[in-house]
Amino acid sequence: MLEHIEVKEGRPDEPAGPVAGRDNSAENRERRTKIRCPKCTWEHDWNPHWGCERCHAIFDTFVTRATCPDCAKTWADTLCPSCSRWSRHDDWYCEDD
Ligand SMILES: [Zn+2]
Ligand SMILES: [Zn+2]
Repeated sequence: MLEHIEVKEGRPDEPAGPVAGRDNSAENRERRTKIRCPKCTWEHDWNPHWGCERCHAIFDTFVTRATCPDCAKTWADTLCPSCSRWSRHDDWYCEDD
């Protein structure tokens, strides 16, 4: 009668809620750093304006630090969606408060 013992799933070490975004120190730093086009001063609006020429993924190059999330290709230069000119990715970050 009690032959069949049902083993309840013992939930290993799985957290209940989503853990992504728990460490937001990096995000806070991103927010303090302004991102704008060195050529026309267009300010980044946190939308995915960039497409990978290699695998055609659409992504926000400033979230991934100029690396394609799909094929992991890194882009040294970033195209401005506003003035369509290329600038070095590093030149887009400007620290001011
Ligand atoms: Zn790609
Ligand atoms: Zn521009």
